[in-house]
Amino acid sequence: MTSEKSTQFSSLPIRPELLQSLNAAQYVQMTPIQSMSAEAILGGKDVLAQAKTGSGKTAAFAIGLLNRLNISMLKTQALVICPTRELSDQVAAEIRKLASSLANTRIVTLCGGKPMHDQLASLKHEPHVVVGTPGRLKKHLEKGTLRLENVQTLVLDEADRMLDMGFHDDIMHIIDGTENDRQTLLFSATYPEDIVRVSRAIQSEPVQIRIEPEETGAQIEQVFVFANDDQKTGSLLRAISTYGPSNAIIFCNRKHQVQTLCQDLRQQGFHAVALHGDLEQRERDEALVLFANESVSYLVATDVAARGLDISALGAVINYDLTPDPETYLHRIGRTGRAGLDGMAITLVHPNEMHHVKALESFLEQKITFSELKPPAKGASQPYPPTVTILIHSGKKDKIRPGDIVGALTAGSALTNDDIGKITVLPKISYIAIDRNKADVAMEILAGGRIKKQKIRAKQIR
Ligand code: ADP
Ligand code: MG
Repeated sequence: MTSEKSTQFSSLPIRPELLQSLNAAQYVQMTPIQSMSAEAILGGKDVLAQAKTGSGKTAAFAIGLLNRLNISMLKTQALVICPTRELSDQVAAEIRKLASSLANTRIVTLCGGKPMHDQLASLKHEPHVVVGTPGRLKKHLEKGTLRLENVQTLVLDEADRMLDMGFHDDIMHIIDGTENDRQTLLFSATYPEDIVRVSRAIQSEPVQIRIEPEETGAQIEQVFVFANDDQKTGSLLRAISTYGPSNAIIFCNRKHQVQTLCQDLRQQGFHAVALHGDLEQRERDEALVLFANESVSYLVATDVAARGLDISALGAVINYDLTPDPETYLHRIGRTGRAGLDGMAITLVHPNEMHHVKALESFLEQKITFSELKPPAKGASQPYPPTVTILIHSGKKDKIRPGDIVGALTAGSALTNDDIGKITVLPKISYIAIDRNKADVAMEILAGGRIKKQKIRAKQIR
């Protein structure tokens, strides 16, 4: 007799502490990629998995690597390689969340753009899990500050993007430092030929799992409009005024375009920030924080920079530039319509890009029709985003936690918890989202005030 396999985490043969953390995170049902890969991952097999962004790949491998961990052995037993620092931070946060009930698990991120000094300190005693970007991992390996001979689980997350970014040789170099009997998990959103090649080089008899992109994206309304080069920004403004998304990621194919478009939008009174690879780390952090805080309404970005970022409740994805790659298209639009919310994708198409549209039609197996746009209402001004973001020059280094900031803000009766949004504490600075109507009150409290007896320097950045 065969029985349906349960898709609840509670059915998995994993250590009870992991189930406890999953419960605490309110993860009950596995996502398709999680339930389809669990048996192979927990069974120690190599896995080559493809599924779109937002499908829960991180937990799929995090559960596997945490389940195998021998906590009392103070050796690095799992290594996760990610394409960017932002993704490494997100992946590390997810692993920490799932490790929360596993006492004394040390998880360290090693990425470029961060002081070497701090990283060396964090490596004095080997962490159980290391998450990082190829360049910096390689540096530590060469310095001898990172040891990989006890790695039993190796994960390549967003492998396709890492190859796009030219990390192939660095990755191979890092993998050379691990033993051959490791388990290798390779996650990718797309499935190009070079992924297959890398898999052959570093995996043995991988179990292949593919979640077809067509299975998703059903609730996303896709709108296509014609736009000539010289009126492209005009078309964008009409699209925004026709469909009125509360916020949106706007994709461009090139960094330079991101920069100019963002400037244009701001000149027109839009609350927009740019995100691309040429910005300094601090500027990238800030762009993401401002957008996630809802202190700006539009994030203008390249694919690489916005890759894998988990921002929920997105009103729309706008393709200012059509991407020639259908899988990238699906990827982009997959950021809207998450968690059962309705989503919308608006794509501007130049008349001479119709061959890309034809390719997309056959990839999506659906007919694409073009829509008309309303002209923007005369003199209409852009609504202000619901929050402002305040930067304070205090952070983890000053032993500040989000609770301390909330405490300081609500100590009098001028502000309540409801006026305070997301708080992001970085090593030296923190960002605080505040209800726009309470911005002045919050600034008054913070500027010149104290948190944990330390003087605060505060600045409203948006
Ligand atoms: P991917 O790596 O496939 O892009 P993520 O691992 O970043 O996706 O997961 C997307 C979001 O879904 C995250 O916010 C994560 O916390 C959440 N998530 C993952 N698995 C589950 C689950 N089984 N139940 C509920 N939420 C989940
Ligand atoms: Mg991911």
